[in-house]
Amino acid sequence: MTAATDTRDLIASVPTDLFIDGEWVPAASGRRCDVINPATEAVIASIADGGPQDAVRAIDVAAVTQHSWAQTAPRARSEILRRAYELMMDRQEQLATIITAEMGKPLAEARGEVTYAAEFFRWFSEEAVRIGGDATLSGDGNTRIIVTKAPVGPCVLVTPWNFPLAMGTRKIGPAIAAGCTMVFKPAHLTPLSSFALADILTEAGLPAGVLNVVCSSDPGSVVEPWMRSGKARKVSFTGSTAVGVRLLEQASEHVMRSSMELGGNAPFIVFDDADLDVAVEGAMVAKLRNMGEACTAANRMFVQRGVAEEFARRLAARMSELVVGDGMTDGTQVGPMIEPKAVDKVTSLVADATGRGARVVCGGEPLESAGYFYAPTVLTDVDPASDLMSQEIFGPVAPIIPFDDEEQVVRLANDTPWGLVGYAFTQDVERAFRLQESIEVGMLGINTGLVSNPAAPFGGIKESGLGREGGRTGIEEFLELRYLAMPRTRR
Ligand code: NAP
Ligand code: MG
Repeated sequence: MTAATDTRDLIASVPTDLFIDGEWVPAASGRRCDVINPATEAVIASIADGGPQDAVRAIDVAAVTQHSWAQTAPRARSEILRRAYELMMDRQEQLATIITAEMGKPLAEARGEVTYAAEFFRWFSEEAVRIGGDATLSGDGNTRIIVTKAPVGPCVLVTPWNFPLAMGTRKIGPAIAAGCTMVFKPAHLTPLSSFALADILTEAGLPAGVLNVVCSSDPGSVVEPWMRSGKARKVSFTGSTAVGVRLLEQASEHVMRSSMELGGNAPFIVFDDADLDVAVEGAMVAKLRNMGEACTAANRMFVQRGVAEEFARRLAARMSELVVGDGMTDGTQVGPMIEPKAVDKVTSLVADATGRGARVVCGGEPLESAGYFYAPTVLTDVDPASDLMSQEIFGPVAPIIPFDDEEQVVRLANDTPWGLVGYAFTQDVERAFRLQESIEVGMLGINTGLVSNPAAPFGGIKESGLGREGGRTGIEEFLELRYLAMPRTRR
């Protein structure tokens, strides 16, 4: 068999229906929609296209299952997660192939995503048995104050297409650990890895009804009935700020707990005392990981004037050598954009920047081939008024803006409503600590282009979101406090 037929057989083995109450079922409407490989434009699967009726069934099941699921022993939930972690790692190659086929990232990056995704299950398997509480006395010594933690209840989970497997496990892991049931809507452009994950969790022993998965080409028609049902107690969303704001409005109706991982506009700052090799390496990761289609992608590269030319030259040399192509092919380093619209957006952002005087050092245009490709691009002399300074580029374009001193660059970096992540390169330790206080972000990388880590609290401030995923606080998003007051009698 050839690699291509292997891949076809593998994709054909992934379920394509809705997963409700432990069973794969077609949409009530009978409708289906296509999943497309963005590197080849080929249809790779046809999935059940869920709607309001399916949504109502799924949330009803999650609500009915909540009580028994919350009664399970923490160790039992922990072991399900641990087994699922092991199954994911055993099937790393298959899962990576599914991700690359539906989303486009190079296989090497897809393998990395599988590991990252699985690590959330391992991490939360360890957290499940460490859900603490508190016991104390009131100040006057007359009342016992006993605080316990309970699962928040049925959760609505909604994830984007860019890390189709990891964005799911980052929510499903802590929900399982905490004892919450779920209705989950993955992005309809990249649903297959989530369907494969549902199968893995079933094999790992997750009871029917705990996780229910409904995908739809009309996401609001599924998510809004969940939000308005009065049965879901929490929403955890990763995606754009615009959709996040809408879900927060809907969450207000029944006062749902809300976790939001939204857009970013990451500043990437290189000071003239930085090790330029380290800074260029960091830029390659922060800019090109996931083809630049990451909320954590470096969006604005501020480089101190004395080293700006040199940095741009070295970065362009590295970026123009990259092999762009089908992520399934050995040696590919940069895959396609997710859809034609994404290529159009990057094209118009670059046109706007060059229209305002930016210089193209390398790239600067889409590739003329099948698939949705855009060439890795470096722009210098970017006017800070350019659209790509205030919008997420979500593509392999590095705009370089020179700056003069720390005070100025901090002001520029903070001049955005977003505050997800920032990166700074400097060998001055004092400055590194100053930046942690002055740059308005939830996460800061110093001399690194990568901050994501299951053991760390991922999330943003300002309009980048609410709450944190992963780390020691990740499970708290799925728990609520119950306080018991009891008079203390003294003999
Ligand atoms: P998006 O359009 O907001 O989509 C995210 C999810 O919301 C998808 O499942 C989408 O479904 C669904 N959705 C869309 N419209 C909806 C509606 N009216 N009601 C309910 N759900 C709806 O975001 P995207 O463009 O796919 O993804 C890129 C965005 O995600 C960027 O802004 C990026 O920064 C952000 N992101 C943030 C993080 C983080 O952790 N902070 C991580 C990754 C990505 P369909 O896709 O099926 O339409
Ligand atoms: Mg979208």
